[in-house]
Amino acid sequence: MAKQQTPAPLRFLVIGAGMSGILAAIKLRGLGVEEYVVLEKAGMLGGTWRDNRYPGLTCDTPSHAYSFSFALNPEWDGYYATGAQIGAYFRKVADDFGVMPFIRFNSEVADCAFDEERALWSVTTTGGDSYEAQMVIAASGVLHHPKLPAIEGLENFAGKAFHSARWDDSAVVDGARVGVIGCGSTGIQLVNALSSRSERVVHFQRSPQWIMPVPQFAYTQEQKAAFRADPSLIEAIRNDPIYWSNIYRFTDGITDANSPQIREIQEICQQYLEEKVKDPELRAKLTPNYPAACKRLIYSWEYYDCVQRPAVAVETGGIARIEAQGVRMKDGTFHPLDVIVLATGFNADSFIRPAQVTGRGGRSLDDFWSPRPTAHRSVTLPGFPNFFMLNGPTSPVGNFPLIDIAERQWDYIAQLVAPLLAGEASAVEPTREAHAAYEEARIAAAKKTIFGAGCSSWYLDPTGIPATWPWGYQAFADAMSAPVPAEFVYSK
Ligand code: NAP
Repeated sequence: MAKQQTPAPLRFLVIGAGMSGILAAIKLRGLGVEEYVVLEKAGMLGGTWRDNRYPGLTCDTPSHAYSFSFALNPEWDGYYATGAQIGAYFRKVADDFGVMPFIRFNSEVADCAFDEERALWSVTTTGGDSYEAQMVIAASGVLHHPKLPAIEGLENFAGKAFHSARWDDSAVVDGARVGVIGCGSTGIQLVNALSSRSERVVHFQRSPQWIMPVPQFAYTQEQKAAFRADPSLIEAIRNDPIYWSNIYRFTDGITDANSPQIREIQEICQQYLEEKVKDPELRAKLTPNYPAACKRLIYSWEYYDCVQRPAVAVETGGIARIEAQGVRMKDGTFHPLDVIVLATGFNADSFIRPAQVTGRGGRSLDDFWSPRPTAHRSVTLPGFPNFFMLNGPTSPVGNFPLIDIAERQWDYIAQLVAPLLAGEASAVEPTREAHAAYEEARIAAAKKTIFGAGCSSWYLDPTGIPATWPWGYQAFADAMSAPVPAEFVYSK
């Protein structure tokens, strides 16, 4: 049944209450804007940190760097935080900054259409609610549509089989025989956790991954008390020159597949593998056949230890099919299993879809995004006025924290919308020419990055070109620091 229409148009409508949507909500309050809502499809905020609850979930960005710059957190338990603690952090921040009343839960956007005459977006939810808003912030996330593998017989498995982002609480993994299919950050973290809990863990690796060693340690109660008393200690960790020089070096290195930094990363990963895995047969299985950092690099302090625990077996042969009692390999080997976790990644090119978005002249986002999702400097779309994306297409900047990327994108958006908030204009969008020039240069640069060096990964768009920011971190920070006026048109 259709519900009541919101009487007055809103200033902003934010789609998604994950990390980026919470950021937008807080920043809007900071601008003194109260006429906005955040539509969240689920019954709880947190995005990826709500959806992912698998054993071993951690973030591969150090905890104090994976915090909003305006909401430092003295309570992080470790150098790398667990997913559970990160989820709790976002819930607390949303509460502390008073944005919970602005969030409409269980409100999945179905349709989002621009009314050219009124310069307003009409937004409807799958539940039949309707809203009108001058500006839309699409903060709907990147990695949130699970990609299920097309493996024969999956439906015939007699035990529990589910995607890593849809953890089945009724599945028993302790003391059980568990298969983990997939070797991205998720599969690696799962195997780490299950290696000491399950009777047997079979790690199915279609493509082994390079592992970058990182430290992990717990913060003591004394350290946390010191952080509470003196936030500059947290700032010092956030500005740690070793961390930043590593991440800058890395991010600059990926812009060129032949850079010395990439060679260095390769050497570090290779040496780490050789030091940690002495058995030549296992080492051969764990050695990728593509250069390090071609797929998103995995940071781990424990995988090579965990994978050598007695309970764990690495399987690199091809999977023939799934049978009722386990997994049959192409060479006939059979792995009897009680549970199968599909750590097979996400459809990274969906973004706000399946919601239908329609811009000027009735042009659909699906049409605009054919053959690939794209956004001007990762944030705006020509023909889609007053529509802004956080962590949208071409946002990933190396292994940089997405939280920092979102904060910088917000600063860019805040400058773009200032004339609208001042009543000097009703709409803003990038010119087609500016966007076309950006995309041409971006694609040319993206092909030279290490992500385009010939391996498959979720970074690649449907045509096989890396869908990333290809020029390094400083270029991104510079681009986000001030929109180029000539690249935009404002309508009265
Ligand atoms: P992913 O990196 O896309 O990895 C998917 C894995 O599944 C790959 O090993 C892939 O093999 C395998 N796979 C897919 N289909 C398969 C099939 N039909 N048969 C066998 N294997 C198959 O996904 P993810 O591990 O969920 O990670 C995605 C991203 O999420 C990460 O790169 C990271 O950005 C983020 N993440 C971050 C953290 C963190 O610590 N912050 C934790 C988890 C995830 P191929 O490589 O051969 O395709």
